[in-house]
Amino acid sequence: MQITDSILAIKGIGEKNAAFFRKLNIDTVASLLYHFPRDYELMPKAAGVREGAKMPGGKTAVLATVKTKPVVQRFGGKSKLSFDAADGFGCVMKVTYFNMPYLASNLWIGKQCVFYGTLTQKGATYLMAQPKLYSPESYEEQSGKLCPVYAKTKGLSDAGITKAVGSALSQLDENGAWQEEYLPEELVKKREFDSVKNSLHTMHFPDDRRLLQKARERFSYEELLLFLLSVKSQSVQKTPCKTPMQDQGEMEALIKKLPYKLTGSQQKAVEMIREDLCGGFYMNRLLQGDVGSGKTIVAFLAMLLAVSNGYQAVMMAPTEVLAKQHYEQIKQMTEDFGLPFKPAFLAGSSTVKEKRQIYADLESGAVNTAIGTHALIQEPVSFQNLGLVITDEQHRFGVRQREILHEKGGGMVHTLVMSATPIPRSLAIVLYGQLSVTQMTDMPAERLPIKNCVVDQGYRPSAYKFMMEQIRLGRQVYVICPMAEPGVMEDLENVVDYAKSLTKIFPESVKIAHLHGKMRPKQKNEIMEAFASGDINILVSTTVIEVGVNVPNATVMMVENAERFGLATLHQIRGRVGRGSEQSYCIFMESETKDKKNERLEILNHSNNGFEIAEKDLKLRGPGDLMGLEQSGSFSFRFADIYRDHQLLLDASADADELLAKDPHLSDPKRRGLRERLERYQEDGYLDIL
Ligand code: ADP
Ligand code: MG
Repeated sequence: MQITDSILAIKGIGEKNAAFFRKLNIDTVASLLYHFPRDYELMPKAAGVREGAKMPGGKTAVLATVKTKPVVQRFGGKSKLSFDAADGFGCVMKVTYFNMPYLASNLWIGKQCVFYGTLTQKGATYLMAQPKLYSPESYEEQSGKLCPVYAKTKGLSDAGITKAVGSALSQLDENGAWQEEYLPEELVKKREFDSVKNSLHTMHFPDDRRLLQKARERFSYEELLLFLLSVKSQSVQKTPCKTPMQDQGEMEALIKKLPYKLTGSQQKAVEMIREDLCGGFYMNRLLQGDVGSGKTIVAFLAMLLAVSNGYQAVMMAPTEVLAKQHYEQIKQMTEDFGLPFKPAFLAGSSTVKEKRQIYADLESGAVNTAIGTHALIQEPVSFQNLGLVITDEQHRFGVRQREILHEKGGGMVHTLVMSATPIPRSLAIVLYGQLSVTQMTDMPAERLPIKNCVVDQGYRPSAYKFMMEQIRLGRQVYVICPMAEPGVMEDLENVVDYAKSLTKIFPESVKIAHLHGKMRPKQKNEIMEAFASGDINILVSTTVIEVGVNVPNATVMMVENAERFGLATLHQIRGRVGRGSEQSYCIFMESETKDKKNERLEILNHSNNGFEIAEKDLKLRGPGDLMGLEQSGSFSFRFADIYRDHQLLLDASADADELLAKDPHLSDPKRRGLRERLERYQEDGYLDIL
């Protein structure tokens, strides 16, 4: 078997199973093996009831014998199965299962099992609901080991995924072709990594935590190294600029007309950009500022200076919704203040005819300001006189994509990169390579801090009532769900079903709409526009609204399954409210099954400051943290997490520097694998696992 084969090559996986795996984007053996567990459970030794109940928190395993005949009660469409089980000391616990009546035929008086679940005590009675069942022998085999918990979908259980992974690994071991090692041997040795093969084994079937951490580090490291090599191998020297721009006071004039006063940080940022644009070298600057710090107007001011000097300016946003919003805003300002912008919007959804027109206008110079998505860098676009390129939330763009834009300006363009990801300065310098960094630390003054709360399911009716009150006051509400559509990961809320269920709860006069990334761009724009103009009261969305969108009248943000998101993502999401002069609220709703308070959410609950959150998150997790394979903020790493892996990031950075110093083009044959891999990474802009 080849690691690139279809999963149908794995023994025990047929068409039916394969369809379930496909829902998780797993179609090849490799994609299965790289579907890493999202957590691990340590199965404790099986114990008696009293002993089990004493174990602090978490789940326990109780070895017990069925004592009473299991009975099934039915009510409505639901059922409850219950019986007593007693341990070797005669101590009894009540066991219940909801909606699993078929289990009754598997359980009879005298049968001995290990019950694995959460044991609770009410008065003198011990209770265990929905425990997993094991035969004493099969439990013995697993206890003391770390068992993987996977992201799953309907039709697939942890056991099912584990079995498929196990078969794949043993088939590959027997007579298969593993993927080639592309990390140079010098690095594997230096960092004491295990082989790809062993590391993959360990990710799914770890012998202990230390080995697991080492394996996880290997995959994070590879990814960070590719990222850093690609940043660092770009030209680093400053390019002299022979025709600096002239400032005739256009920026000052616009600043005076704005309905607000710029913050100190904004003024400083504008000043630095002015110096860059009017100075002797091309600008290459990162503007970093927390959500809501007012980066957009700084960008517009930079564009104004470029356009006033006869250059064309481009602003690229990662989503069409966001690009459209920037475009509408600049159009409005042009009308209101008589600015020299001749703007055009270009995105994937533009018609062929529209695109042709815009291409012609950019080439002739009839348009001097282009705002759009990566459609802006596609082949046929050429510029009459491109002078400034701004990328908003740039981490969504691949390094290669940024280079293409540069080339379109003949390599002679000023670049400004804007980001809201609150990374400590030490990391920013590594992650952004050669960029000069400007941080905006002030927030616009008249903002009221957002009021936060972390709540459980019991609070739901009050939350809806509160939303209704805000809607009556004329405000708008966002609800964020982790999933787009039904059918994948059933235990998480999805946007489509959720919006439907809200229509039953709220009166008909409340307009509810939903938004997710799989919808067509045109549809997404329409919904976003309707929300921005106030025609929609509640917008149920995935994190597609995470970046940049600005609707100041929205005052409530409710996040479902909140503990499933990374802290930086949650902070970004929350940044969608608190943008106007009214008090805003953020409700983090925890999932039902959470039994202990989530410390990470508590950090958000008590701080609205992105940098502070990032730092506390870093401390809380520490390098040994195995969780958090989910994205941290918006750096689209697949395995690595810039906060958890900050030391690894610094190590990879040092290694990348060393490699490039002795072999700038990685042309040594022993680094061929790495070079090829890097080329592909730069082309795609993301990590393709093989
Ligand atoms: P972000 O940095 O997240 O991109 P935006 O540029 O979208 O933030 O700004 C958020 C909101 O704050 C916008 O409605 C903008 O008009 C407003 N704003 C920007 N600067 C100021 C300021 N100095 N005072 C008051 N409001 C401001
Ligand atoms: Mg923004």
